[in-house]
Amino acid sequence: MKRHQAFKFELRPNGAQVRLLRQFAGTCRFVYNKALALQNERFERGEKRLTFGQMGLMLTQWRADKTIPWLKAGGTAQTQQQALKNLEAAFVNFFLKRADCPRFKKKGDGDSVRFPQHFKIDHQNGRVWLVKLGWMRYRNSQSIVGTVKSVTVSLRAGKWFASILAEREVEIPLPESRSAVGIDLGVTTFAALSTGQTIAPLNSYKKHQDALAKAQRRMDRKVLNSRNWRKEKARVSKLNARIANVRRDFLNKASTAISKKHAMVCVEDLKVKNMTRSASGTVDAPGKSIRQKSSLNRVILDQGWCTFRRMLEYKVFWNGGIFIAVPPKYTSQTCPACGHVAAINRSKQQFACVECSYHNHADVVGAMNVLRAGHAQLACRVNGAAIPSATGTHRSDLAISWPGAVEVAESRWMSRGRYSS
Ligand SMILES: [Zn+2]
Repeated sequence: MKRHQAFKFELRPNGAQVRLLRQFAGTCRFVYNKALALQNERFERGEKRLTFGQMGLMLTQWRADKTIPWLKAGGTAQTQQQALKNLEAAFVNFFLKRADCPRFKKKGDGDSVRFPQHFKIDHQNGRVWLVKLGWMRYRNSQSIVGTVKSVTVSLRAGKWFASILAEREVEIPLPESRSAVGIDLGVTTFAALSTGQTIAPLNSYKKHQDALAKAQRRMDRKVLNSRNWRKEKARVSKLNARIANVRRDFLNKASTAISKKHAMVCVEDLKVKNMTRSASGTVDAPGKSIRQKSSLNRVILDQGWCTFRRMLEYKVFWNGGIFIAVPPKYTSQTCPACGHVAAINRSKQQFACVECSYHNHADVVGAMNVLRAGHAQLACRVNGAAIPSATGTHRSDLAISWPGAVEVAESRWMSRGRYSS
């Protein structure tokens, strides 16, 4: 099994290199947006989307265009091709319903450049060489394992980072434990396990909300784009970065602990993407109770369920375990003792069966039902004998492994006559 792992380091570019990095990122954003605009126009006209290869030919023309000379000067063909690759991935994720439709990138939102070649890494001396940029020092905070495939440089809260992607061959390990666990993700308890354990939410956003709101207000009082405004803006993005760090740390620790302890992990397929999508609804179907929903949305985003699930999935996979997502049907209403299904079985945090008087923490009951559904799904899969358990246990993997899945999903969207969902 090939394992890809990214190693992230803080870069120390000099002034000239920072200017060049901004240029590189700017041209990538330009290519991404121009290609997206072109695809959207084609869609409006009912034409087929250009393939990645065709977009590459367009890029060659753009780079030769005398009216935009800075495109060729400000980056390499390889880095700009990577922007097209990112757009292609965004479309695929959208067609497979894993993400919203691709949006235009604004300056400063996720500025990054990927170098698929023309780089050298001198890890001993903590420096990386990139084409046109030369040698750059980085904070050598960890070792790199495997063959380096690409280097992605990105800007976050005023600092540049290099994410070095390495590939190595690993044996699929045998899981250390043989136990299975079901997980119920919730708002009041972040996660409840079928073993009875619960994990309290971190709510990193809420904790720092006051400080953030204050900084935001200070920023709003300053003259737009003035020196003081920029100072406050840097403070706001620093706070945001700190919140994100605390949250990622929490999610990493929680997911590592679970994936180490259990060989099979089942979670509810909550479609977090749908829940957090616009609470205000679409033009055709305006949302109801917008205020309540958007505050719930913020809690969900704050809790980082999506990230948690993703972390769990790959960590379980790395440990040789099985990850199963089950549809959330009656998981909160079914009695684990007698199987009776009733909405009145659950009241807030308590579960009490009206048939057999079994009672427990409501979220733990949810987790037990998730585990049972996971076992059932696994049994079906083993009987079908179609997929060996280690090759991908999540539905989205199944979708990709089926040739033509993306095309079918895309034509389904095309026939609807609009991209927006
Ligand atoms: Zn019961």
